[in-house]
Amino acid sequence: MDEVTELTKALVALPSVTPNDAGAQRVLGSRLESAGFTLESMRHGEVDNLWAIRDRGGPLLMFAGHTDVVPTGAPADWKTDPFVPTIVDGFLYGRGCADMKGSLAAMVTATETFVAEQPERGSIAFLITSDEEGPALNGTVRVVETLKQRELIPEYCIIGEPSSERQVGDLIRVGRRGSLNGRLKLRGIQGHVAYPDLAENPIHAALPMLTRLISERWDEGNHDFPPTSLQISNIAAGTGASNVIPGELVVDFNLRFSTVQTSDGLKRQIHALCDQDKVNYEIDWTVSGEPFLTPHGNLLEMVDRAVQAVQGFTPQHSTGGGTSDGRFIAALGCQLVELGPVNATIHQVNECVRIADLGKLSEIYLHLLRSLLSLDA
Ligand SMILES: [Zn+2]
Repeated sequence: MDEVTELTKALVALPSVTPNDAGAQRVLGSRLESAGFTLESMRHGEVDNLWAIRDRGGPLLMFAGHTDVVPTGAPADWKTDPFVPTIVDGFLYGRGCADMKGSLAAMVTATETFVAEQPERGSIAFLITSDEEGPALNGTVRVVETLKQRELIPEYCIIGEPSSERQVGDLIRVGRRGSLNGRLKLRGIQGHVAYPDLAENPIHAALPMLTRLISERWDEGNHDFPPTSLQISNIAAGTGASNVIPGELVVDFNLRFSTVQTSDGLKRQIHALCDQDKVNYEIDWTVSGEPFLTPHGNLLEMVDRAVQAVQGFTPQHSTGGGTSDGRFIAALGCQLVELGPVNATIHQVNECVRIADLGKLSEIYLHLLRSLLSLDA
């Protein structure tokens, strides 16, 4: 069996449900150490992070990924044991094989080949966390802080998130929308429904305010992003009794926004809309991530060429989907792309990856190592 499949299987056999790494970083680390990397484990809280670097001067290419996986769901719903990697009809089954242990294996095997070809040249790093699928507070974001302090800014970053739709490399992510959460609290005065003059109903007060928020046209988006959207996700008010005006109402909403906006600008616009009513309210804000976009340049050009060389087509460039650890790494100011296996079964039962795709992914990564660490430059 080929190297990349073997390594993927070894990783999938480790039950590394967030935030547990379950020894996966040790497996990857020992391979990288043998390839001449210097390892540094950066544990924060209950999260294991691995930083590995091979410094040979010139531009630094960083591979980034996660060893943690989402829970399996009911094991009985699986055709195979989720932590016993099993090959059926050309597919490898097991939790994490597509998201994203297959990518990690492809990165490591591509790197091993490159290092054997070029023992003296090419700077490469790995940032591997076990907290991507969870709260993401002690993972990539903490390692990025350390890199910033050390002024260690990679030129290029490749994240192995499963970006592809039908065939490996048919779609890459070149940016992500920002995500802003607001928790709006309106305070009224609780009272008897028969005596509204003695009460203040926060549900009634909220209705015009919420109508304005959901009707607002925030922007038109731009070439790379759709317009900003606001969605209300939760509303809670009321005591359960039909004769009581509640004293408080809580509304959760989320905005997905493009590079046209910033989270601070949106907060200001929302406050301006809410202030139109003389209502006692407050909003707690959480920014899950600012938007980012990798402009056309070296990295995207080389990714197009690498996919073309291996697959015979060029990838679609997309900024869709949810957030990823890319939001933290992009803040370093490097060119960044997400390129990984087909995502059709991720987070589902019977997660699987086509065996042939693992080999192709490793080949694509190898092309990128060769071209981006351009040895003629
Ligand atoms: Zn993932």
